[in-house]
Amino acid sequence: MPNMPDYEQARASFSWSDARGWLDGQPGGGLNITHEAVTRHARGPLSDTIALRWLGKHGHQRRFSYAALERECSRFANVLTKLGVTPMEAVFGLCGRIPELYIAALGSLAHRAVFCPLFAAFGPEPIHARMNQGRAKVLVTTRRLYTSKIAQLRERLPRLEHVLITDGDPPPGCLDLRALMAEASETYTIAPTHPEHPALLHFTSGTTGQPRGALHVHEAVVTHHVTGRLALDLRPGDVFWCTADPGWVTGTSYGIIAPLTNGVTVFVDEGELDPTRWYKLLEHEAVTVWYTVPTAIRTLMRAGIELALDRDLSQLRFIASVGEPLNPEAMRWGLEAFAQPIHDNWWQTETGGIMIANYASMTVKPGSMGKPLPGIVAAIVERRDDGSVRVIDKPNVDGELALRAGWPSMFRTYVGREQRYNECFADGWYLTGDLAQRDRDGYYWFVGRIDDMINSAGHLIGPFEVESGLLEHDDVAEVAAIGKPDSVAGEVVKAFVVLQPEVEPSPRLRRALLAFARKRLGMAVAPREIEFRASVPKTRSGKIMRRLLRAQELGLPEGDTSTLESESLQPPMWMSRGP
Ligand code: AMP
Repeated sequence: MPNMPDYEQARASFSWSDARGWLDGQPGGGLNITHEAVTRHARGPLSDTIALRWLGKHGHQRRFSYAALERECSRFANVLTKLGVTPMEAVFGLCGRIPELYIAALGSLAHRAVFCPLFAAFGPEPIHARMNQGRAKVLVTTRRLYTSKIAQLRERLPRLEHVLITDGDPPPGCLDLRALMAEASETYTIAPTHPEHPALLHFTSGTTGQPRGALHVHEAVVTHHVTGRLALDLRPGDVFWCTADPGWVTGTSYGIIAPLTNGVTVFVDEGELDPTRWYKLLEHEAVTVWYTVPTAIRTLMRAGIELALDRDLSQLRFIASVGEPLNPEAMRWGLEAFAQPIHDNWWQTETGGIMIANYASMTVKPGSMGKPLPGIVAAIVERRDDGSVRVIDKPNVDGELALRAGWPSMFRTYVGREQRYNECFADGWYLTGDLAQRDRDGYYWFVGRIDDMINSAGHLIGPFEVESGLLEHDDVAEVAAIGKPDSVAGEVVKAFVVLQPEVEPSPRLRRALLAFARKRLGMAVAPREIEFRASVPKTRSGKIMRRLLRAQELGLPEGDTSTLESESLQPPMWMSRGP
């Protein structure tokens, strides 16, 4: 029987204050993520249960019981104490999916430092922008990542005091994390933590500026726990695999915190997506709950359904997907391949946790993101010119998806951008920047983004970041970056480049620019395609009309460009409609 057998009933009786009682809390009213995720289990009946089961790229395995994980987190927290890191200072992680990253995240939270994960496929410029804004004091990374990406930035990061190298033999100016951990005590008492104490910093892309750091507090753990239980249906004894990298918000909230607070075993695969291996892992690791992204599902689809049907996946009980639209075709394929639905759910960096979902007990409508979590009030709204919003009650009408502000994992600010943060709210609603519809049955359907953000394989990429990276090249005069539809990744980044007057376009220059972008921006942000243009279309006020470029790219009628110039609700034209 699912954890939430009756959605309507759960919704009617749910309250966040009751849900807080699902967790232990610290004596005296404190609430600390690591206490809830690790310490309380390490000191209770789950102490010997495997918390983290890690499989390395080369087949090497490491396992940590809850008790062992607590010891490692304590050591890390003691290392931070020794280094003079005080609560609220920022510890950044730039690693692949290695146990040290999980330990650093949870150890930092135990110490009440702010933890900020960075995706290892970022290049030096995106890393610099985030570490600089987030005032990184400590960085946990590997020797290879340090040498290839951080060493060249070190002078531009004056606040960065300590670089902890996870795999020994630290380069000059870095410390050996293993040696520090070996010397550190394995006991640490988590100080009483105010629920509003800053905990996690997650960067999200902006369309018109640098990435924005969304700050979350320890109280977010209430949403993580509740959604793990109600939206992912996590139960004792589960083996949970979240394929998202902890360099992104999903990989932290659901790759680390939510499953651990629910006391299950987290399986971590260090390797990259490979259909044959993934099916093998689902079977051999006896995964019961699997949380992945549509890009991965589409990749599996391409590899052929036989690979799935050849495996015994009878233990797999619940599959969920997030990050981009799960197209009905992928849904139907999932039903055939796994003999069960894939449960799409929706959330974003700012919401800190799942807000809208298809629950285990609910009928899934292919293509819908599902219904709001108990405790979450959602609506479709229209922004008015005076800054207020009008709630659209009529079903099946496009509008902006809004959430009543005030749930535990709602971001508390964008660091250093208070005004931008305030602009996200109107009349008590948090405005998500997504266009959606609600149907007569209360199901929500994703329509598109209001802004120009690119969603590639479930990762949001800000066009501005791509454009600024390419503009650094001497031959480039202007750039416009857009998301070009892609059958696997949803979108890939395409850049339109205007060259300096004396420079001639050539295939060689295109290759050079692609390589330049990859080096500076990294694989995660760099464009996949470059097209030379004599000019890029702009509004009268000089803003790049990316939407027009997208329409041209698709060979769609360009429409009335005066509409494109305004900030009106205009869904991206290729997005399929909902119900
Ligand atoms: P991020 O903040 O990077 O996690 O990206 C959040 C954005 O991804 C949302 O605002 C949506 O535009 C998109 N997104 C997340 N989940 C879904 C989903 N289930 N369906 C469609 N788009 C989604």
